[in-house]
Amino acid sequence: MYICGECGAIFDEPDYIREQICSDPEAWEDIARCPNCHSEGFEEARECAECGDYFTEDDLIGGHLCEDCLHELEKDAKLLKDYILSIDEGMDDFADWYFDTYKRRE
Ligand SMILES: [Zn+2]
Ligand SMILES: [Zn+2]
Repeated sequence: MYICGECGAIFDEPDYIREQICSDPEAWEDIARCPNCHSEGFEEARECAECGDYFTEDDLIGGHLCEDCLHELEKDAKLLKDYILSIDEGMDDFADWYFDTYKRRE
């Protein structure tokens, strides 16, 4: 998959557009372009490991997660940390905490 830096389109294969590359009438070349806006400014897209949307490699933090997903995970990690810091009794508490945190959001 590819993602266009100009218009944000995501596509399987670029369009190849035949263009004359110099004044030589024989010198034609197929130039890869975004099928949507015909820009050459596209790059290979990578999938976010969490939401599965496509992003440029630069937009995936650590090459794995988009910014939105990372923020979500940060929230969860913070909750988990708060919980661990407040543990005083066994697994009943954990089950309660898990239920409160995850089931209420659904
Ligand atoms: Zn485009
Ligand atoms: Zn994501």
